[in-house]
Amino acid sequence: MAPKVGKMVGNGKTTKILETGWVGGKKIKFKSEEIDSLDPQPLWVSDLIGQNNEWDNNILIKWFEPKEVNMIKTIHIPAFDVKDEYTWNGTSNGEYLIKSGYWFGLHKRSGDYETSKFWKRFWSQNFWPKWKIFYWKLANGALATGVNLRKRKILSESPCPLCGCEEESDTHLFKDCEITRRIWSCSSLGINSQQPNNLSVYVWSRNWLWYLMDDEPKNGERTFDFINTLWCIWLLRNKRIFKPSSNATPKDFFEIAKHWKIRGNKAWRDTEDIITEQGRSNREKSKDPFWWGYNWANQEEHATMIVDGAWKINSQDEDDPGKAAFGWFFQDRNGEIAKGNQVICASSALQTEALAVLLSMKESLKMGYRNIEVWTDSKLLVAGLYEEKKAASNIRTIILDIRETAKIFNSIRILNVIREKVSIAHSIAVKARRKGSSL
Ligand SMILES: [Zn+2]
Repeated sequence: MAPKVGKMVGNGKTTKILETGWVGGKKIKFKSEEIDSLDPQPLWVSDLIGQNNEWDNNILIKWFEPKEVNMIKTIHIPAFDVKDEYTWNGTSNGEYLIKSGYWFGLHKRSGDYETSKFWKRFWSQNFWPKWKIFYWKLANGALATGVNLRKRKILSESPCPLCGCEEESDTHLFKDCEITRRIWSCSSLGINSQQPNNLSVYVWSRNWLWYLMDDEPKNGERTFDFINTLWCIWLLRNKRIFKPSSNATPKDFFEIAKHWKIRGNKAWRDTEDIITEQGRSNREKSKDPFWWGYNWANQEEHATMIVDGAWKINSQDEDDPGKAAFGWFFQDRNGEIAKGNQVICASSALQTEALAVLLSMKESLKMGYRNIEVWTDSKLLVAGLYEEKKAASNIRTIILDIRETAKIFNSIRILNVIREKVSIAHSIAVKARRKGSSL
């Protein structure tokens, strides 16, 4: 059984609605009749909060069953801007769940079984092998940190390389050091590493990973961020030891972490199959056109925006996000209306395509068109418009913008077409990318 975790809602900006734990420790769901509607789904808890800093009743009633509406409304929204925070005292009597035995690894009896289940799931993640080995070593006290080396009589003194004050143990370095405490709380996860008290980093991190792996799909973003944080603390520490002259501040930590995140996104997130199995097999069998739309049922005569992105990785330099541009070709039944292209900043092909759709929608608004169909050859993008949660992290906010911008139209749909159909936009895009400037 996974450890339970709670989340204290502050401004709701970093808590996802479908994430476990912010409503009475349970997972909440949208009303089943709303799940398939084409209305953009609220994503963050902050989307449920109205301007007067109270729960927005209309939104709650639209998306949740009455029982859940009532549960949500029991949560107090702080008047001040408070960050959301993970907590472990989610039981009604306020006791740490650690006492009720949720935390595995603390009870000998269930320990072995739980531990092997944990490792099985951990090794099945797609993260880099060196990451897995790194964490495996950390969890088994096999990293070459000060205390471990002293046990092996290699070092006699071992102050923490980050703060310089205390002795460097694994638990101090990765969890309790004042520097790492700050890193955890400023990270995208917003973790208070002092909760619960007095845990070794071994038990603490394993429970976090267990919770995160359980709460999100395989290779989930938060699981990635958690391991990435441990990994980059390790790199920061090594930098301090082996290059004492270099700056190794928490700011450097976030630079390093960002770098690894980009690499991770390139390595697998974009190519991951984000279309749900069920949805995909239905679509492929039926050969129905695959699209996402707003008000499309009432479409009037529309113009067609053909878009394509062109992105090229710079294989010489990992830090270079690559070169990106997109082209668009706008037509109606009488032929060409306008065309154009633009060089943009993007770190993947999918992100380029997402920006291409968003920006070309804005082009058509500028020209005064309110009924359009957008053609894209990216199935992943259209799938992402339905299931933002499973989309690559670097396109999620773009997806949200596409959904919002769609509401300005009278009717619009984003249609997935075969590559041949966007070739006209493709050649416009490639030209711009090669030249490095727009037409
Ligand atoms: Zn320290």
